Amino acid sequence: MKVQSWTPKFYAPLLLGHLGVLLFAGEGSVLAWSYVCVLAMLAFTALLCWRRMRLGVSHNRPLWGLLLGALLAQGAAFALLLVDALQNPHGTLVAFDPTFYFCVGSFALIAAAAYNPLTPMRRWTTAIDGVLACAIVGLFYLMLRRLLVADATSPATARYVIWLFDAMGLFVALFATLRFVAARRADERRFHFVLAAFACLDAVLPAIHNRFSLLSDSCLPEWLLGLPFVALGVMLSRRNTVWLRGYQPSRRTRQVAASLAPLMLSLALCLLGFAQLGRDRPLAMGALILAVAAYGVRTTVLLGYHQAVEEELRNLRRDLHHKSVRDELTGLLNRAGLRQVLRRAWQVAVRARRPFAIAVVDVDHFKTFNDTYGHLAGDDCLSLVAHALRAEAGIQPGVVVARYGGEEFVVLLSGLDRPGAEAVMERLRAHIESLQIRHLNTGQGVVTISAGLAVMAAGASLASEKLLRAADDALYEAKRGGRNQVYCAGAMPAAAPAVKA
Ligand code: GH3
Ligand code: MG
Ligand code: MG
Repeated sequence: MKVQSWTPKFYAPLLLGHLGVLLFAGEGSVLAWSYVCVLAMLAFTALLCWRRMRLGVSHNRPLWGLLLGALLAQGAAFALLLVDALQNPHGTLVAFDPTFYFCVGSFALIAAAAYNPLTPMRRWTTAIDGVLACAIVGLFYLMLRRLLVADATSPATARYVIWLFDAMGLFVALFATLRFVAARRADERRFHFVLAAFACLDAVLPAIHNRFSLLSDSCLPEWLLGLPFVALGVMLSRRNTVWLRGYQPSRRTRQVAASLAPLMLSLALCLLGFAQLGRDRPLAMGALILAVAAYGVRTTVLLGYHQAVEEELRNLRRDLHHKSVRDELTGLLNRAGLRQVLRRAWQVAVRARRPFAIAVVDVDHFKTFNDTYGHLAGDDCLSLVAHALRAEAGIQPGVVVARYGGEEFVVLLSGLDRPGAEAVMERLRAHIESLQIRHLNTGQGVVTISAGLAVMAAGASLASEKLLRAADDALYEAKRGGRNQVYCAGAMPAAAPAVKA
């Protein structure tokens, strides 16, 4: 049989038995039997928690382990209450100190709510949150002890102790709920939902029990003490998490909750510190300083981490952009890069009414070069040509070379009129020829280039694509004219009225 189906069957007789004990057991033994019932429910819930810990994903095991620790600590507290009930049948004196174990349980719950197994800088944040949780619970226990040592039997003390436990329960419930809201992953949400639900019940039901116990001698409110464990056990035994699907906080809500959670720990310690100001000034000051310092260190550590991540992202984005606009083989601008540069340079030239020239360059008989010397040698040749074109173009301001594709390059010559552009292109052609890269299947016996040039006169208005097409047509003329030459297209549209920006 599945755990999911037989868990309620186990708890139901226990709850009924507990009610029967409270209604029918003799006055001397009712408390002892009641604690036995609570302990039985708690032990079974602890077993289910241990099972969930073993079944859960490995990074969540410490979380389930902390919840199990909280149950065991509460179990120790109830065991002490049982021993006490056996020794003092009227239950008026607490011979041992169960409050210590209740405090240990609260510490484990706070630590479980604070711990995030996959957060950045996990060691630092865990250590800081652990210290804060220790300080909160330690100071809380110290306050309790001072009260109980001063006067353990007066109703005023009992009322104050109840208020203190209520405050602690409320804090744990609020903190766990905040962490549930901040949780992002499905496994994280599941754990924090279970934790928050248990923490809320564990705050409210004992508070009701304590109020009733203070007002009447009836033992019936004892029945409430086992309910949080039963509810937790039922939640632990369920495999699916249908009840979680209805609630999906927005990203903003999650972010706010996540940043508020660590602040809550420091605030709680501050409050406890303030409460001690009149009684124990050094202790109060120590608590306040620790609360502020811990929050400061936590924020500084995370800020440093986020700054490092931000810088890494910036570098990655720069590399990515560089790769997206550069050709891998030659290191020149690729087609996308050319488009960007052309758009910008073109706008500047048109606005300033300056001339603009585009040349399309093609390596002559490159297919036969590949066929003769192989593709690797072809790649080397393209790199050499590209390097030479860039070096020569770099001499002249406003001249940019890009690889258009294959063995074709585009040269942008902004601000150069026809004679100027022709002179630059002739220099480029001569430079490639002077490289003397052997190519036996050409007339010259070396690698050469042909270029088609088109020039937009100053103040003209036309689309850059048109100029590029004209340059491409001119290239065919250069090829037809015998290669290893620069051919300039006829004059492009003459001066026109100023173009709007
Ligand atoms: P033309 O003088 O008329 O331009 O003749 P061509 O042989 O240069 O022209 P064609 O377009 O027929 O051949 C271009 C060759 O360029 C074909 C292709 O194998 C080669 N090619 C294109 N890209 C690369 C490259 O990245 N590396 C190498 N090694 N070869 C390439
Ligand atoms: Mg070609
Ligand atoms: Mg070619």
